[in-house]
Amino acid sequence: VIGGVAGGMSFATRYRRLNMDDHIIVFEKGPYVSFANCGLPYFMSGEITSRSRLMVVKEKDLVARFRLDIRSSTEVISIDADAQTVTFVKDGVEGTVHYDELVLSPGAKPIIPVIEGIHTIPHFELRNIPHLDKIMALIKDKDPKRVVVVGGGYIGLEVAENLHKRGIHVSIIEKGKAILPVFDEEMAYFAHQELVKQGLAIYQDDEIVKVAAPYVYLRSGKVLEADFVMLAVGVLPESTLAKKTGMTLGLREGILVDHRYQTNLPHIYAIGDAIVVKHTVSGLDSLVPLASPANRQGRQLADILSGLSVTNKGSLGTAIVRLFDLTFASTGLNEKQLAGTSFQAIHVNAYDHVAYYPGATKIDLKVIYDPKTEMILGAQAVGAKGVDKRIDILSVAIKAKMKVTDLQELELTYSPPFGAAKDIVNIAGYVAQNHLLGLTKSISYKMVDAFKDNEAYLIDVRPIMERMAYGHIEGDHHHDLDELYQSYSSIPKDKKIIVYCDSGSRGYNAERLLRSKGYDVYNIEGAYAMYATLKGK
Ligand code: FAD
Repeated sequence: VIGGVAGGMSFATRYRRLNMDDHIIVFEKGPYVSFANCGLPYFMSGEITSRSRLMVVKEKDLVARFRLDIRSSTEVISIDADAQTVTFVKDGVEGTVHYDELVLSPGAKPIIPVIEGIHTIPHFELRNIPHLDKIMALIKDKDPKRVVVVGGGYIGLEVAENLHKRGIHVSIIEKGKAILPVFDEEMAYFAHQELVKQGLAIYQDDEIVKVAAPYVYLRSGKVLEADFVMLAVGVLPESTLAKKTGMTLGLREGILVDHRYQTNLPHIYAIGDAIVVKHTVSGLDSLVPLASPANRQGRQLADILSGLSVTNKGSLGTAIVRLFDLTFASTGLNEKQLAGTSFQAIHVNAYDHVAYYPGATKIDLKVIYDPKTEMILGAQAVGAKGVDKRIDILSVAIKAKMKVTDLQELELTYSPPFGAAKDIVNIAGYVAQNHLLGLTKSISYKMVDAFKDNEAYLIDVRPIMERMAYGHIEGDHHHDLDELYQSYSSIPKDKKIIVYCDSGSRGYNAERLLRSKGYDVYNIEGAYAMYATLKGK
């Protein structure tokens, strides 16, 4: 086994449980096997207090319990597929061993951007314990006050949060239009708001062009001061060895394997961040560098090599990140990935548990589905609590090939401290059904201005106090939903009518009323909440 962390160790231990007498050798070029890469950022803030807690299972325990022949600090430098041998280096000394079956789980490598003058400033990436140790040593010795984090993806933002919690001022530079690129922009905007609220600086649609310590120069002309730089601009499959050996590579040089994880070479298999997988929803080649698929694949490959009938069914990319008081989770495909296909996106918001029970917090949920087949294509959610549960439900629903309308049928746990009799996931099913039955017509919050320009008649149906407190869309008219039955006759019949409230449900009630009176009505999908987000309010 080459690579002794998530996929590699999952393989090795499962394989041992199924094969008591085989000789299992695990090569790991780093000093530690089976460590918690996912926990590394949380040690930087002190949230995980003890470094030893990051060693999920100690090497000596793996040796004692599983009789693994662990070769840490040993790098495999070549593979001879014909002779079935690998050559490794430890402490500068080379050696060769024979294998019957070879498993590659070498992970991903961080992309290191070329930045003029970067050598003038301490800079780090974060992938393993030695990286973490270097960062912690700098923090201890130099007491840095300012850091620039390059990259606003999951790892960059986790690093940003944890360094901020350590009392270091954080500036995040994101080349794309928005941070958290796995999310669609309107959902990612909540992350932007939260980070700014917490005091972090974000520079989007910008990039570092030069560093001359302590100054960091951005493309926009802005100049930041920093004591060190964290690089987190993404990862690529670690396929150097595979390429050298003649393994067929695919998307971004990820290792191509079949549904039994076999490479094009006999007796050589690959799993984890390094391989190309089929996306569960699109069926297309994808890279999904996440821990759950790597662990699952390790176990599955052990089953396959032990003669069990198992296949790789693909990956969904279900992921989650906490940013201070909010949690962001997603599964499946987003709108950017679905561009050019036919899909319907719905936004729903509701409380994590009934609003009357203390401590309720709002969840914003986006569900994307195919209006022809009703299949769920993806989901994203943001909120303080309960986001993981909702996205996990939707991830299961996608895997189980449930239709979006089936979400109405889910019978989920409920009592006031935990949920609602109509959970937000059920509500997403109701809204989708209303759309599919034609009970409601909507326009996206992104299209409101275009409709307004075509002289549509725009109605805010919220109470006046709410309108005054939270603002409203310019050029609209106000008809409180509770007075609409009395006041609707003043609304012109020769125009398209657009109704809205804060979240969509009162807009829908108004739409139903006006529609029954012969109006051509559209409810704003995403409602004022998303429109205001779009406008940066
Ligand atoms: P890894 O676990 O990375 O293991 C690969 C190992 O192979 C490495 O230790 C490497 O040293 C070794 N290796 C490579 N080449 C050789 C060679 N030639 N010889 C010997 N050894 C070699 N995922 C989540 O799902 N949720 C999270 O919250 C999350 N947080 C993360 C936070 C951080 C900071 C990082 C770095 C990753 C995070 N991940 C997270 C991703 C997750 O850790 C990976 O998806 C997972 O570890 C991949 O497993 P793997 O076995 O493919 O590779």
